[in-house]
Amino acid sequence: MVNDEDLLLAVLNSAPVVAGRPTDELSGAAGKELAARYGGTGSPAELAQLRRMRECLQDAVRESKDALSRLSTALGDGVLVPRVTPQGLRWEVRAPEDERLAFRTAIAWSRVLHELPGRLRACANNECNLFLIDRSRPGTAKWCSMAVCGNRMKARTHAGRQRAAADRP
Ligand SMILES: [Zn+2]
Repeated sequence: MVNDEDLLLAVLNSAPVVAGRPTDELSGAAGKELAARYGGTGSPAELAQLRRMRECLQDAVRESKDALSRLSTALGDGVLVPRVTPQGLRWEVRAPEDERLAFRTAIAWSRVLHELPGRLRACANNECNLFLIDRSRPGTAKWCSMAVCGNRMKARTHAGRQRAAADRP
């Protein structure tokens, strides 16, 4: 199985805001390519499942109301079945083909919650729609990317401070 943590981030981050406009990389050719990268077929039904899962998981990370119940509906009838290998048990996803990738994305989300509690979060720039897994030792990462959102938000805070100073009598 390819690294499903990458799959999770690819799905969570597939609706970036570009030049102030929301975009969707889980549709058309871009969606097909993303699905294929993680072993999917890129069929319209599969992409629809992934978009639905994306919405549920983004909402779950943001702790929106109803996110978890919607997620449990979105999971459908997928199950994990054990395969015995010389290295121990390997868990395989058993779900209708179009649902498999979305199901794996949810499993990856769950694994990150267990292994890195509190480290999966939305970018602190509220105009950004990207997510990050914070692997820094102090666990204080806030931005999807320091180069993009980090610098932008720092510049904004700085400008705000200067404005506040200028306003003072
Ligand atoms: Zn960001």
